[in-house]
Amino acid sequence: MDLDPFVFRREGALVAVRARTGDGDPAVEVNRFALRPLEPQEFAVFTLDLCHNQIDRHHSRFPDDELEKISAMAPGRPLMERHDLRGSLPRGTFFRSQLHRDGNRVSVRPDVYVLRTQDNADFILNIEGGVYRETSIGFSFEMPECSICGKDLRTCDHVPGKTYGDHQCHYIMRNVLEVIEGSVVSSGSQGTGFVAAERAERALPLDQALKLARDAYHEPIELRPRYWWSRE
Ligand SMILES: [Zn+2]
Repeated sequence: MDLDPFVFRREGALVAVRARTGDGDPAVEVNRFALRPLEPQEFAVFTLDLCHNQIDRHHSRFPDDELEKISAMAPGRPLMERHDLRGSLPRGTFFRSQLHRDGNRVSVRPDVYVLRTQDNADFILNIEGGVYRETSIGFSFEMPECSICGKDLRTCDHVPGKTYGDHQCHYIMRNVLEVIEGSVVSSGSQGTGFVAAERAERALPLDQALKLARDAYHEPIELRPRYWWSRE
């Protein structure tokens, strides 16, 4: 049986409100995305820590080679603001990304630019003031691989977080297909339940996405709906 790509959201963190120094002029890189050359005072730059290679509280981890793919896919993706039930507004664009190494921890750290328009002033202030400090990112993957048996976690019975022998089950995200979008949420928000673009709406928090995928897989085959026309 072919499984659909596994789509979910996960949280990250805003780690800096200024551009890194010493690795290129951000204006030059930002202007690869702008239709007219922007002056440095026309935009703000923020750095996000999107995802990393350590086992997280969802009992999942990214192998280093998948982090490289995510980092390569991030430039050009939108940054959204998720603040209420009315939806999301695009606020910025990821314009470059690199892997950040801290001991064994490797993470994806893209920079995003946000235009200093009147409309974005509150958004920028909320980030600079530390109110918006959490991020949420939508991804799709082909396979969440079980660390116990090596199968697609949706098809086996191992439970992430449960210990089997001396090994605690987690899963490894394999074959990243797409980085859908990033968003910034106020501190403590779950970043869920927002009505956004259809693709972002599919991206549930990891535990909910896994439960749905497992339920769908284990449903009797004759009851499984087949919405061929809705496939992308
Ligand atoms: Zn398993």
